[in-house]
Amino acid sequence: MDEMEKSLCIYCMAEIADEEAAFENFFVEEYEEACCGEGCYQNALKYVEFLKRYKLHFVLGLAAASFFLVYPMFLRQINWMLLGLGWLMLGAVLTGLPFVTKLTIESMGIKKGAKFGRLLGMIILFATPIWFFII
Ligand SMILES: [Zn+2]
Repeated sequence: MDEMEKSLCIYCMAEIADEEAAFENFFVEEYEEACCGEGCYQNALKYVEFLKRYKLHFVLGLAAASFFLVYPMFLRQINWMLLGLGWLMLGAVLTGLPFVTKLTIESMGIKKGAKFGRLLGMIILFATPIWFFII
């Protein structure tokens, strides 16, 4: 174990300087990282509650989007409307439920990670109609 390793706040990625001040909360079983303070801890908790509540919606949404993204490829002629629908669904899911992977949270924290997911969703939502006009 490396004792010199600095811990980062799971929410805002700030370095936790003061061991005493650091919240050693493990708000989800998998995350034993601490938060830099009460504010971040509350935000992190909110995110986890949100994630738990909408996990099924997220999974089903992604599954539906994936279906529309993959299914048109197997048709004799690609159905661009279905493909576009798949992209719009993917964009909507990411925008409404910006759940990011554990890896993303580890590299950029919940705050930036959720923003990143939402931004990605919005880009897809914007780009899909534009792409439709082009083809
Ligand atoms: Zn923080």
